[in-house]
Amino acid sequence: MSDIERLRSAAAEHEERLVAFCQKLIQTRSMPGEEANAARAVQQEMKALGYDDVWQDEVGNAIGVLRGTGSGPSVMLNTHLDHVSAGAESGWPFPPFEGRIHEGAVWGRGAMDIKGPTAAQVYGAALLKAAGLPVRGDVYVAAAVQEEVGGLGSIELACTTRTDSAVIGEATNNELRRGHRGRIELITRIGGRSAHASMPERGINPHYSLARFLLGLENISLSEDPFLGRETFVPTLLFTDQTSSNVVPGEVRLHIDWRTVPQRGPDEIRAELQRLLDESLVHGASGEVTVKEEHLHTHTGAERDVPAAFPSFVLQEDDPLLLASRSALSEALGREVPVRRWEFATDGGHLMAAGIPCIGFGPGDEALAHTNQERVPIAQLTEAALGNAALALRLTTPG
Ligand SMILES: [Zn+2]
Repeated sequence: MSDIERLRSAAAEHEERLVAFCQKLIQTRSMPGEEANAARAVQQEMKALGYDDVWQDEVGNAIGVLRGTGSGPSVMLNTHLDHVSAGAESGWPFPPFEGRIHEGAVWGRGAMDIKGPTAAQVYGAALLKAAGLPVRGDVYVAAAVQEEVGGLGSIELACTTRTDSAVIGEATNNELRRGHRGRIELITRIGGRSAHASMPERGINPHYSLARFLLGLENISLSEDPFLGRETFVPTLLFTDQTSSNVVPGEVRLHIDWRTVPQRGPDEIRAELQRLLDESLVHGASGEVTVKEEHLHTHTGAERDVPAAFPSFVLQEDDPLLLASRSALSEALGREVPVRRWEFATDGGHLMAAGIPCIGFGPGDEALAHTNQERVPIAQLTEAALGNAALALRLTTPG
């Protein structure tokens, strides 16, 4: 039997356990900062599957490794543990944390973002062991904390687990991805002076400056990348310092979600918005634009300051990592594997920025992320485990 045939039969034999593990992860709620139980479940499964070493790091990432036998390069299969809120349960076809199987798919919050892909990576490395295929380099499987709120876990991994390459397991429908736009969250603060609404002339109402700023945003010119497309931005949340409707507010804060391309960095975007804001201020209001920064606590009690910024990344079309991944997947899956970009941002930006080249491969449809229709087809889950095994094998073989 060839290596690929052995992996295929191991994948088929493990399908039932893989699906059960995916369901268990969906049943284990893990909002950002509350991933302790999910981290434990991932480590338990890795131990049961015979990983050489399994641990939790300082910030609470769950990590397992298959030790390589010789001098091959190392690889990290990377996903995350946390998920976004399920919102109102009544909007879901099935209870979001049940992990119901319906028409050949596993349904629920996190099915494809990110519990299904995590299960497929945990089992991907395990298939190598089950098929009796030794690897030349170390294969790390890491499920990181707090991806959904800035990537604290993978920022830590980029320092502590410096592999030669990484596979980001976010949903690709089992195609390949070689990049995505970045994301930053900016906060525009406009300060005025509070006063009784019956005497508005005594105050400085920041709303009038905000109105000019919002209109000015429509004229901002956007940068474009030939592969990633154009920057986009969306004014999202809007707050005032007041909860009483008969007071001139003293401050307004507008959050802006900005999807970035490599042609323009966060500093330049912030500076351009500050220029626009300076031109928009009237009646003596003052204002400042900043990149949001959060002080985050992890489930292990660690604390970090994390800016709300995911870098963009692009791996070149002829990059050896991409070519090797494409040929390994085509051989293992028995079909051509298209290469595209993701629309959303991932932890891959953090790893790439730290010098670890990344490709994207994982089960599930990107369009279902953060919706109440989240599901992952079982056939795709099993195929993704096989694909991850083939990627880990190829990417730890000296080039
Ligand atoms: Zn997500």
